[in-house]
Parts: sequence; C-alpha cells; structure tokens
Amino acid sequence: MADLKQEIKRRRTFAIISHPDAGKTTLTEKFLLYGGAINQAGAVKGKHNAKHAVSDWMEIEKQRGISVTSSVLQFEYDDYCINILDTPGHQDFSEDTYRTLMAADSAVMVIDGSKGVEAQTIKLFKVCVMRQIPIFTFINKMDRDANDPFELMDEIENVLGIATCPVNWPIGSGKGFRGVYDRNSKHITTFTATASGMKEAASEELPLKNAKKLLTEGEYEKLLEDIELLDGASAEFEQDLVSAGQLSPVFFGSALTNFGVENFLQHFLQMTTSPLPRNSSEGMIDPFSDVFSAFVFKIQANMNKAHRDRIAFMRICSGKFDADKDVYHVQGERKQKLSQPQQLMAQERKIVAEAYAGDIIGVFDPGIFSIGDTVCSPGSKFAFEGIPTFAPEHFARVRQVDTMKRKQFIKGVSQIAQEGAIQIFQEFNTGMEEIIVGVVGVLQFDVLKFRLESEYGVDIRLEKLPYEYIRWIENKDEIDVAKIQGTSDMKRIKDLKDNPLLLFVNSWSVGMVLDRNPGLKLSEFGRE
Ligand code: GDP
Repeated sequence: MADLKQEIKRRRTFAIISHPDAGKTTLTEKFLLYGGAINQAGAVKGKHNAKHAVSDWMEIEKQRGISVTSSVLQFEYDDYCINILDTPGHQDFSEDTYRTLMAADSAVMVIDGSKGVEAQTIKLFKVCVMRQIPIFTFINKMDRDANDPFELMDEIENVLGIATCPVNWPIGSGKGFRGVYDRNSKHITTFTATASGMKEAASEELPLKNAKKLLTEGEYEKLLEDIELLDGASAEFEQDLVSAGQLSPVFFGSALTNFGVENFLQHFLQMTTSPLPRNSSEGMIDPFSDVFSAFVFKIQANMNKAHRDRIAFMRICSGKFDADKDVYHVQGERKQKLSQPQQLMAQERKIVAEAYAGDIIGVFDPGIFSIGDTVCSPGSKFAFEGIPTFAPEHFARVRQVDTMKRKQFIKGVSQIAQEGAIQIFQEFNTGMEEIIVGVVGVLQFDVLKFRLESEYGVDIRLEKLPYEYIRWIENKDEIDVAKIQGTSDMKRIKDLKDNPLLLFVNSWSVGMVLDRNPGLKLSEFGRE
C-alpha cells in the first residue's frame, strides 16, 4: 500500500494552455529535456512542417494523427512522474481541447510577453476557472522586446479577472534580458545564452545585495525600484488561494533560450498538486483509495474506414490500474478487461501493464464508451460527474443531397456527435427534417463532411449560419421559451433531448435578452 500512496503522491497531471505561437511546444520540449526524456530540442513534433490545407483530407488525417500522438506525454523529473496534457491550437482546436482540461489537476498558461493575453488563452482560461483548477502563468519570450511586466500583470488581472503573484521578476527584456530575481530567496539568477537545443543556459546566482557584481548600475537601480513597487502593490503568495484557482503565480522566462525554465518547473511542481479527489454519484472519490476508477474524457475515431474502431482516453482518478484485472464499465453495466491499454512516453507509444491515479491511458474501444463514462474496480458502481457540453462557436445547417439516404445520414451524424466532435440541434418547432450542427473549431465541418461521405456513403451540403454565441437556458422549467423577448439576431433551437437553447450573432444581444427577460438564466456550458 505504501507503494500505491507513494506512486500517486509523486504524480503531477497538468495541461498547458496558450494562444498558438506563444511557445507551448517549445516549453513542453524543454520540460522533456530536463526530465531526460528526449535529448535534443525540436524532437517532439514537426508541426511546423505539417501546415495543412483545410480541404485536403490527407492533411486533416495527418493533423489528427499528430493530435493523437501528442495528446498526453508522460516523463519523470526528480522524483516526480509528470503527465502533460496537450491542448491543440489553430484549426484542430475543438471540443477535445476543452475536454482535455477536465482531465488535468492544474494548468500552465503560457503568454507571449510581447502580445499579452490573447483570444484562445481567454477561452481555455474560462474552462479552468469553471473547474477551479490552479493556474500558473509563464510569461514567455522575454528575450524579445516584451511589454512592461507591470502592464502584463495588470492585463492578466483585468482581462482574465484573476489575482496574480509574481514568483520571479525579469531583469530587463529583449537584448537586455539579463535574468530573473527570485522574490522568495531574494537571489538573482543571470543567464548567458548557449547554443540552441542545449539543456541548460549557463547561469550565475547571487543574493540581491551582491547583484551589482553581475548587473550594470542602471540594471541594478531599475531592479530595486521594481522590487519596491512590487512589494507594495502585488498580492502575497498564498498557497490556499493558488490551490483554489483564485491566485495565479507568475513566472518570467524564455523557453527558446532556456532562461528561467527549470526554475519555473521546480517551483511549479512544488506549488501544484498531486491528483485531486473527484466528485461522483457517491461523493468525493479519494485518489489514494484502493479502488481503481477512471473516466473517459476523449474519444478518438480511427480513420480506417474498414472498421470503426476508436481509442478512448481515460484519466485514472483513484487507485491503480492493472491490465490483467477486470474493470466494471458503469454506464455499460458490464465487467470487462480494457483492451490494449497504452500510454505515450515522450515520443514512444507503449502498452501499459499498470498505471496510477493521475495517469492517462488510451484503450481500444469497439464503440462501447461515451464521453464522461466511468470504469472502476468490480464491486464499485459510482459514476463521475458528467463532462459539460462546451459552447460551439460555428454553426451550419446540414442537408443530405440524396434524401433517400435519410437513415444513414441520421446514423452517421448521431455517431459522430456521440464521439463529441460535433453537437447537433434542431429547429425549435420541428423534428429532424433539418439539422443544425455546432462545432468549436471550423475544421470539424470538413471532418464531418468527409466522414459522412467515406464512412456512411452520404453526401451533404453545409450552409454556414451567422451565429457565434449559444446559450443554454438554465431554468428552462420556469420559462416559456416561445415567449422570450428576443433580439432580431436571436434564434431558438433545441437539442436532441428537447432542451431549448438560444443562438445569437452578437454577444451584446445576449445581455440585451437577459435585460428584457428578468428571471431568465443563461449559461455558456450545458450539462449532460
Ligand atoms: P505554440 O504554438 O504555442 O506551441 O508555439 P511554439 O512553441 O511552436 O513557438 C512558436 C514560435 O515561437 C517558434 O518559432 C518558437 O521558436 C518561438 N519561440 C518559442 N519560445 C520562444 C522564446 O522564448 N523566445 C523567442 N524569441 N521565441 C520563442
């Protein structure tokens, strides 16, 4: 048992979130370098060689292949066993990106120091806040001319609405980026650039009072001024607030040149958490329990159309997974062995015999799992809380070209929706004659069209709709949806379970409709 506790305690499972190009891949690579999992930077994924044309299926497939293999990475650093969950960006941004955050215990938010908070970071950040998971900020690219660090902190506080607490502070930026000041140890660390791809930047550390030896008079004076300002203005570090997701520790550095990366990793691993308990139908499940349990947070369809095999990704929430033992699939009400359980270690995929709470495994799924499903040791029957449905931002009306193929059409659309790649809706007053499809990332429209053609033999026509905002009606039982005082750009729809929803073209219309209909409660997230 001591082993079980020890194994779980040393696990750290987190997601890295950022706007594309802020440096997520570079930072991940540096983490792997420090962990000894790879020995050369640039080895993780060749995504910059994989620019794709949206209409070219082979490219989409390649892209999806990349998403599969890069979705979870496990490696060791010091005594920690680290699981990094990747949140894909650009065109392959989809609901999966959001769901991945459901499997994390904390998040690292990478911000480009010259750009500040960007659109995609805001979206992902909201999901972290909803789950109240701790958020750590790494302000990257300090080797380039960056915005004033005080302004960056203000921006994070104002735009994202979270208090910040700098753990270290940059000394200069751009060509004048000399190093960082650690506010806790009151030491400065200066860096000297080394050849790219090297593990460590050469560094020197000194107490602040001796810092003049390494800094120019001007740099030293500026640093003292900054420290004084900081001590007066910024929030104190409080672990409880960090753990509750209300205070974000902030670090400055440069992933590319390795400035401040290891320092960040060390602090972060201490401040973040080992696997957290999760809520279930039987209350909180303790990760250290002897009962194995896990939930499915992502289903990856196999692109081989000869068979519709899939990989179900599960986050282990408690106990130990043993590949030789049966597990109980709660929603399927069936005992079974999980087939071909696999994990990704740095670049290699391998079959796993055992895994612990905090780990992510992918298992072969012949079509029995749905997103949110629970598996656990036989004898237990609790189910974890469902995964929220995230707001799609792109909508299209979908019609099949050949009306005779109605059945295949419905089947195909429903199955793809079950995998969670798309959400389907109907007109408020009608049946399934017309389907409205909502997606989080536009690439999913191409994927839908291609898959319906190739797997179900159904040709479709997609007519893009102008709506960008969807809201679930939280108090639908108290509201007569037909009587809602709308705006001209509002549309009423319903999901397949007849839950009413509202679509809007403009975000300000959402506020207007709330004003016009006192008592109406709208939500950006749906619950299964
Ligand atoms: P991602 O899209 O967030 O994964 O970003 P990448 O890690 O792929 O980085 C995007 C670009 O920024 C690449 O060209 C990187 O070499 C560059 N980059 C990443 N980190 C830094 C940094 O600290 N300084 C500078 N100057 N460039 C960086």
